[in-house]
Amino acid sequence: METPTRSGLLGALVAREFDLLVIGGGITGCAIARDAALRGIPVALVEKDDFGSGTSSRSSRLIHGGVRYLEYGQLRLVFEASAERRLLLRLAPHLVRPLEFVWPVYKGARIPRWKLAAGLTLYDWLALFRNIDRHHRLSPREVVAVEPALRSEGLLGGARYYDAATDDARLTLANAIGAIRAGAALANHTAATRLDMRSGAGAVVSVREMLDRQEFDVRAKVVVNAAGPWSDDVRALERSDAAAAVHSGAAVHGSKGSHIAVPRVRLPTHDAVTLISPIDGRVLFALPAGELTIVGTTDHYTRQSADTVCASEREVAYLLEAANYFFPGRALGRDDVVAAWAGIRPLAVTKQSSVTASREHSIATSPSGVVTVTGGKLTTARRMAADVVDHALEHLGRPVRRTPTANTPLPGGDLESVARAESEATAVLGDPALARHLVAAHGSAWRVVAGDIQRGDDGGQRLHPAFPYTLGEVRYSIRSELACTLGDILIRRTRLAFETPDHAGSAVPRVARTMATLLGWSDARRQAEMTAFDEEIRRIFSIEASQPSDDATPAGLAPGATPFRESSSARPPRDSAPPPAT
Ligand code: FAD
Repeated sequence: METPTRSGLLGALVAREFDLLVIGGGITGCAIARDAALRGIPVALVEKDDFGSGTSSRSSRLIHGGVRYLEYGQLRLVFEASAERRLLLRLAPHLVRPLEFVWPVYKGARIPRWKLAAGLTLYDWLALFRNIDRHHRLSPREVVAVEPALRSEGLLGGARYYDAATDDARLTLANAIGAIRAGAALANHTAATRLDMRSGAGAVVSVREMLDRQEFDVRAKVVVNAAGPWSDDVRALERSDAAAAVHSGAAVHGSKGSHIAVPRVRLPTHDAVTLISPIDGRVLFALPAGELTIVGTTDHYTRQSADTVCASEREVAYLLEAANYFFPGRALGRDDVVAAWAGIRPLAVTKQSSVTASREHSIATSPSGVVTVTGGKLTTARRMAADVVDHALEHLGRPVRRTPTANTPLPGGDLESVARAESEATAVLGDPALARHLVAAHGSAWRVVAGDIQRGDDGGQRLHPAFPYTLGEVRYSIRSELACTLGDILIRRTRLAFETPDHAGSAVPRVARTMATLLGWSDARRQAEMTAFDEEIRRIFSIEASQPSDDATPAGLAPGATPFRESSSARPPRDSAPPPAT
């Protein structure tokens, strides 16, 4: 199915009054827009940067029940997230893939074997025994057989359990495209700049298109603030005394999480590995991601702006130290770090207290009619979206009907079998790695992208020799996935910027020329876009000197989050602060 053009979507934004206008195109906003559109509700969405450019492209890329929340008794959250994992494996089998985890247990571990076994039994139970498979215990020999690079000293055994992996940015995009195909008007690179709430008469939201700098108004009956870590900034756009009184106090607490990526050959895990940090007892992951292993995440309360958040030297050192403790033969150093990045979890401030924040979501409507949604996870976005749309319908005095999203595949998800699609794509393209990538990224649309790759002289030209991204796929993303900047292509439609030490720098001139041809950029515009890309890369991938002011104030900690500590010498895991959660 063809995606409408961006200029068509911008035109649609001004053409009518919408029932719902969503501000923010992360996973939360895009899932809300898709849910509303599938229920036949006139809905629009504006995103100031690109779909998924905020926290939704900086996650651990897991669709998980959240085994770590069991320690805090968050059984409802685990139950809901497990059900969502099951649904997403069915509705987006190309984007959400089963992932096996090994959890090794060492002598003196904060979570001993019996506790791990009890926890994983509960984890299976909360998934109604319908997870990918049930967990099972592993002897020390079995752990080492699967993960030979793991530390063997003090190893008592472990367990295997199951969750799922995704591409967070593409999952967000799939929600955006699904919304548009169901009739919603979505615009990326379009910021809300002012909210004028007219009591009982809807809202006029001023917006600015950021690439060509046009300004216009969008009218809607209900405004949904889904701006994640920017939620309080969006609330502040409602500039009136009444609004200021209503909006006193924060809606969101930011918890910063950083990851590092190292070459897979340097940290060659077979499956995902769950680790307890030897430094502070937090749960960490080593996650296989193509040519890389991703290690993360940190978790501490921050007041940093989500616009500029990046990993710090201290966080990188902390993650390297943990990796080196558990994979002692690898001697990973700072030079092994291909990329480091950070995101801010938009944790909901609960009604009970302004200083506790929750992974569960919260929906609040101001008297002026702005619905603010905070909290949640990638995994639970569909469920959260259904709750928001139910809430908005009640606010509009409309009947609430069941959401169809539990039974509607995400775009590309209408595949009978991923394996069959991969072998068909291999037969067409003669390149198994390219075939696997196209099916994973585009699902049933792989044939359309393959057509672009086979067209012309250069469609099959790779952006980088080590990765299966091609100029044909770039053309597809511009035409059908609303990609309009170099960052859209190289950071989020493909993940090349995360995967190469030069953050896709070597591909920039070629991709910029392709974009210039398709989007009619002048030479000056092409240069400006290349400069803007460099700035975006600097913002996301810089590793800043550590700032003491970034440390948590204990009163502001999210449950499970710890103030960030200097790493000391690695010591064996033992009873200490409870591990925070992703
Ligand atoms: P965002 O993705 O930040 O989206 C908000 C959007 O609003 C942004 O794109 C922003 O540009 C836009 N915006 C802001 N102001 C305006 C404006 N004025 N006008 C228009 N647009 C605006 N969850 C999981 O399920 N699994 C995981 O493995 C996982 N790992 C995580 C690891 C880390 C380190 C972090 C930080 C989070 C993780 N999460 C995970 C949680 C998950 O990533 C977040 O809950 C989710 O991405 C938040 O999405 P969001 O849409 O609410 O916010």
